[in-house]
Amino acid sequence: MIYINGEYFEKENAKISVFDHGFLYGDGIFEGIRVYNNLIFRLNDHLLRLYESAKTIALEIPLSFEEMNQAVIETVRKNGLASCYIRLVVSRGYGDMGVDPRKCKKTTVVIIVTQINIYPPELYETGLSVAISAARRMRDDMLSPRIKSLNYLSNVMAKIEMNRQGMAEGIMLNSSGYVTEATVANIFIVKKGELLTPPKSVGLLEGITRNTIIELAKDAGITVKEELFTAFDLYNADECFLTGTASEVVPVVSIDGRIIGEKKAGPMSRRLLELFHVRTTWDGTKVI
Ligand code: PMP
Repeated sequence: MIYINGEYFEKENAKISVFDHGFLYGDGIFEGIRVYNNLIFRLNDHLLRLYESAKTIALEIPLSFEEMNQAVIETVRKNGLASCYIRLVVSRGYGDMGVDPRKCKKTTVVIIVTQINIYPPELYETGLSVAISAARRMRDDMLSPRIKSLNYLSNVMAKIEMNRQGMAEGIMLNSSGYVTEATVANIFIVKKGELLTPPKSVGLLEGITRNTIIELAKDAGITVKEELFTAFDLYNADECFLTGTASEVVPVVSIDGRIIGEKKAGPMSRRLLELFHVRTTWDGTKVI
């Protein structure tokens, strides 16, 4: 059952207008959230990010934070899946031709609950081969990538490049050449026992998984630094891994043909994935 503006529809009947500005102009925002064994992982953090994205693009969400919280829980409940993926989309709504958001009188809110596509388990041991894409990420002082918007074209362009090269993921730099993130995941490297990840100001989506990993690492006494780094640092890292709602913590073992570490999951990524899994067993909102 799919939630659209307060009503529930079967998949076949869940439709929105072609005049919706989310479709016409990419004028909208979204969240991807995971449910583990009837616990919605960090729902509160996802909703905070959604409402911040909305505020940034001056999009009025017609539901209060608490109403949205309830709508998400109710939609998961109705679908009866203990472990699944939630796609929450809020768009400017039905308007006419012309980019002016004032034409859109009613914001569209959609909540989809579905099975999750995840990497095969062996990849968490063998790791991913990736490349740096020619497609760049927007800097934070331009259209901020911290808005989780319906504009994913630069990420899609990077993905197309990676498909052509037979790479699992692409690492995106910003216009100054600093490492930002992967196409749908954040990036971390390990150097001399310290964990490094780019700062928000480089231009990246502030991932909920990223923030969870930073917290878990700090709690475990690991030094975490949010600092700028380049391809040089990637190639010479002791370990590299990506984080995201779907991928959790997935090791990277080759970047542009340079082998990273032992060409398999390193001790830091293993340890953090384990800690992350423990976290998903209790850190969330109960569905039932
Ligand atoms: N960066 C981008 C561009 C993404 O699309 C995602 C996935 N939402 C992430 C990072 C990871 O964010 P999260 O951990 O919140 O899933």
